[in-house]
Amino acid sequence: MPNKVKAYLYLFVLLVPGFLFSQSKFKVVLDAGHGGKDHGAIKNGLREKEVALDVVLRIGEILSENKDIEVLYSRKKDVFVELRERADKANKAKADLFVSVHCNSNNSSTPYGSLTLVMGLSRKSTNLEIAKTENSVIFQEANYKKNYKGFNPNNPETLIGLKLLQEESLKSSIDLASFIQNKFEKKLNRKNKGVHQQPLWVLDATCMPGVLIELGFISNKKEAKYLGSEQGKNEMARVIAQSILQYKEEHFSGSVSDSRAETVSEKQETKSEETASVQKTKNKNYKVQIGTSKTKLDTNPSNFKGLKNVSRIFEKGYYKYFYGNVDTISDCEKLLAEAKKKGYDTAFIVSDNEIK
Ligand SMILES: [Zn+2]
Repeated sequence: MPNKVKAYLYLFVLLVPGFLFSQSKFKVVLDAGHGGKDHGAIKNGLREKEVALDVVLRIGEILSENKDIEVLYSRKKDVFVELRERADKANKAKADLFVSVHCNSNNSSTPYGSLTLVMGLSRKSTNLEIAKTENSVIFQEANYKKNYKGFNPNNPETLIGLKLLQEESLKSSIDLASFIQNKFEKKLNRKNKGVHQQPLWVLDATCMPGVLIELGFISNKKEAKYLGSEQGKNEMARVIAQSILQYKEEHFSGSVSDSRAETVSEKQETKSEETASVQKTKNKNYKVQIGTSKTKLDTNPSNFKGLKNVSRIFEKGYYKYFYGNVDTISDCEKLLAEAKKKGYDTAFIVSDNEIK
């Protein structure tokens, strides 16, 4: 993932306190990565900005058929849009969801597969200080009082409130990301590179659920061919739209919808797919991700509130810590409950292909 993508995430989470509002229509901001002078990755005859926009417009077309959904776009043309503008748009719209679409690229042509990033990270109280520092940039904006509806970055109580809400938001984001990855794998046969969290400090202050989808590697010949094709773009757009509808159904059940029946059957279909996949993947392992840190911790129980069987990996400058290692999701759910009981509120389940 290019560093620029990280910057997008970083800025996005800083600026979008979407939870502060409520409304009846479900608003989705579709964010086509890059644009204009910012091409993103260029490989195998494809430009990331073009693939992203193309897929985003197709997603929007499908979602617009649902009268309970309002679709907004960061851009609908090949134009350069500043990060701030993207966030502003989501902010002003009081959006419920932010979905950013990108393509991955690598110097090697070997890697392929789809992955989805969630804009969230489990945080300890020590990080509130860092969050405060990161949030203080808001004070530099002339209209912060108006723009942030009374959110005071230096007020600890506000921060604690935000932190709780953010955990909800994180769970929601992981839900959506899982729907997307599951459908990529089960419906489209794409390689599932899993759901990942970005280690971003400002996340204590972020509350609007959001995901960033890396459709696939345009640096891989075969995947580039797929992503450049009508079929590929249609298929990717369709399952992303279905995932958003499924998310809306599960998280915004209060609203009425003509397409509800369709969404529900979609959901049932997914449920049976999931059951099937659990049965099929006997040799798959599941773990509970309980935390991430810059510093290396011993995996003994005293460092993890008494939890035994904690493992650790190092990825992209961060240590990730996992609890347990079991064969089925249902067993892992028990571990997850244990971890949460111990205070790891934002712990979540990962499968082997997510732990690289
Ligand atoms: Zn990108």
